[in-house]
Amino acid sequence: MSSRVSHCRPACTLPLRSVRIPLGSMYGIRLRASFGLMHWRSSCVSRPRFAASASASSASPGSSSPSEKEQALASSERSALESELQRQRDAYYNLDKSRVSDATYDALEKLAGGHGASGTVGAVPTAGTHAKVRHAVPMLSLHSENTADGLHDWHRRLVKRCADVERARWCVEPKVDGVAISLRYEPVADGTSFTLACASSRGDGRLGEDVSEAVRSLAHREEVPRDVHIPPDVWRTWRERLDVPDEFASSVGALEVRGEAFFARDEFAALVSARKAAGATVPANARNAVSGALRRLDTADENADSALDDLPPIRFLAYDLLLHSKGKEKGKEGKGGSKAHQPACHSYAMNFTKDVLQMSAHCEPCASFVDAATRAREYIEDSGRDSLAYETDGAVLKLDDVEQSGLRDLVGTSRTEPRYAVALKRPALAAVTTLEAVECRVGRNGQVTPLARLSPVTLGGVTVTNATLHNLEVAAGLGLVVGGRVVVERAGDVIPRVTMAVPGEGDETSKWQPPNECPACGSPLVRLPTGPKGIPEKIARCMSSQCPEQVKHRTVHFAKQLFDGVGPGKVEKLLTSGVVTHDVADFFEVTVDSVAALDGFQTKSATKLVSAIESARASASVGDVLYALSVPNMGAISARALGDELGTLRAVSSLGDSVDRHADVEGIIGPSSLKSLLTWLDDASNRRLLERLHDVFSRGS
Ligand SMILES: [Zn+2]
Repeated sequence: MSSRVSHCRPACTLPLRSVRIPLGSMYGIRLRASFGLMHWRSSCVSRPRFAASASASSASPGSSSPSEKEQALASSERSALESELQRQRDAYYNLDKSRVSDATYDALEKLAGGHGASGTVGAVPTAGTHAKVRHAVPMLSLHSENTADGLHDWHRRLVKRCADVERARWCVEPKVDGVAISLRYEPVADGTSFTLACASSRGDGRLGEDVSEAVRSLAHREEVPRDVHIPPDVWRTWRERLDVPDEFASSVGALEVRGEAFFARDEFAALVSARKAAGATVPANARNAVSGALRRLDTADENADSALDDLPPIRFLAYDLLLHSKGKEKGKEGKGGSKAHQPACHSYAMNFTKDVLQMSAHCEPCASFVDAATRAREYIEDSGRDSLAYETDGAVLKLDDVEQSGLRDLVGTSRTEPRYAVALKRPALAAVTTLEAVECRVGRNGQVTPLARLSPVTLGGVTVTNATLHNLEVAAGLGLVVGGRVVVERAGDVIPRVTMAVPGEGDETSKWQPPNECPACGSPLVRLPTGPKGIPEKIARCMSSQCPEQVKHRTVHFAKQLFDGVGPGKVEKLLTSGVVTHDVADFFEVTVDSVAALDGFQTKSATKLVSAIESARASASVGDVLYALSVPNMGAISARALGDELGTLRAVSSLGDSVDRHADVEGIIGPSSLKSLLTWLDDASNRRLLERLHDVFSRGS
C-alpha cells in the first residue's frame, strides 16, 4: 500500500503518505483521498472558492472574459440562478424534455461556478411509479472542457497534483449522447452465472430510478444480455488484470456495468420518418426518446404503451465496470455492507466487459495524454463521428492505470467528479455577457425588431456584440434588464441570439418594456390580424407610410432590386439631399447634373448612377418593380406572377377599384398576399406612386 502512495508527489507539502487508504472500499478511498487533497488545495489557494472558479472560467478560451467584479454573484442572484438550474435539470432528467439548449445550460452552470459548486449531478427523481435505487457508488458526472487548450490545462493541474500521472497511459471513449444507466448482475446458483437483477437511471448520482422492466423488454438482447456467464478458468485469468481484492476473488456479490442507453442513429431516423408519415408525434431528439422509453413503460397509461410499439431496440455502450463484494447492499460500507471495487486499468475492465460479458464497449488505449487528446479531437470533428452508429457530444479521456499503481485512487474524486477522467465536448457556443442596450429597429414594412447590444464576448472564435431578440413579444418574455446579464448563443453560422436573462438580475420594475410607439416617428405600433381567425401577428408594426426609417429602408430596397451598383450609402445621400423623396419614382427624374452637385458624388459616379436607372427603366418587368416596392407579404415570386398576369402597373393599381377583379388573380397569389396588397392600395399615395411609375415605364418601353 505504501508503494502506491509514494508515487504521488504534489507540489505542496501535505503529508499524503499519512492518508490511510483501505483496499477494496472505493467509497472510503475517495472520501479520504479527496479530504487530503481538499486540504492541500485550500492551503495553496487562499481565494474563496467561488472567486477562484469564476476567474478560472473567465480565463477559459472560447468564452467570455468579463472582470471578476462583473462575475461575482450576490447571494440573491446565486439562489435565483441555482433554482433556475434546478428547474432546467428537472426538465431534462425527469420530464424528458429540454427547456433550454445544452449550450445555454452550460453557460449558466459555468456562471454558478460549475456543477461542483452546487454539488449536484443530475436531478432528484420525481415521486412517481418508479422505485428508487440508491447507487452503492455514486454515478458521478464528468469535468468537461471545450478546447484542446482547456484539456491540456486540466492535465497540467492533474500532473501538479500527482506527478506520476505525466507518464501514465490514457484511453479514449466516445461520449454517447444518451441516457446513463447502471446494470446490476447478481450471481445465480453456482456463482459463475449472473442474471440482470436491476437496471437503474442515474438520477441525482446517488439516487436513481428502477428502469428494469423497460430495459428487459426494450433493450437489444446482445447489447444488454439478460444473463452472463464467467467460466472459472476465465475468471482466474481476469481477476489479476482486474486487480480484484482477495476478499472478492472467490465470491463476487454482483457485477455492475454502467454505460449509455441510446437509439442507433439510423434506427431513430427511421422511427422519425415513419412517425412523420403517419402524422404521429415525433420525439424532439433521440436522447429524449430513450429517456421517455425508459420511464414511461412502467406506467399503466395504455396510450403511452402503444406509443412505444414502434420504438427501435434500446442500445447500450458500456463505460464503467464495478465489482461488488457479498454483503447487504444497503448496509453501511465496510460495516457488514457490500464493498465496491473499480479496476485500476480501465482498458482491461472494458476488454473484460466486451470479451467475457459480451457487451458493447468502445475504449481506445493511447500511449499518452497527448495521443488521447488528439484522438478525442477527432471525435468532436465530423470525420471522427460520422462513422459511429450513435450521436456523440464529445469524447471522454480516462486514466488507464495499466501498471495498477493506484494512480486513480491517488488523484481521487471531488464531490461531483472523478479526477481521473475528463470529457472534451464540442465548443459551447453560449456565454454570459452584459446587455448594454436594447435597440428597436424599424424595417421597410414597419416591422419593429429588437436587437440586443452586448458587451463584447467571444463565441467559437467570433466576437459577438449584437444578438437578435426575434420580436418584441419574445424579447418582453425574456425578462431583460438593461445593464444586467444575459446568455447569448450562436449555433452554426446563424445570427447570435439571446436565449435568456440570467435569473435574479434586477426586480420587476427594472425589466425592459417593449415600446408602444415607433422609435423613428412616434406612431402607435399595431399588430395586424393574420389567418382566418384574425389572430394578431407577433410582429409589432409602425403603420405610417411617412415613417423616415421605413422610407429609408424601402428606398434602399427599391434601388437594390432595380439599379445595379447603387448601394445604401448612395441612396441615403440622395434621400438626405432631397433629390429623391419618399416617392421612389423620383429616381427616374434625377439627372447627371443634379447628382454630380451632391457631396460624395462626381460626374463619373453620377453618370454611372443615371445610366443604371435608365437601364432599369428599359428592362425591368412589372413584377420586378412590384417586388421592389416592398408591398407587405409580397415576395418576389408572387410579385412576378402577378406582374406577368396583369401586364401593367396601372392594372395592378386598378385591383383596388373593384372586387370583380379579385377573382382574376386569386389563383395567382395567395389570399394573404392579396389582402395585404389591397390594404396597401387603400393608401392613395401608393396608388399615385403606381400611376407615376406606370408613366415612367411606359415611356421606357
Ligand atoms: Zn414609424
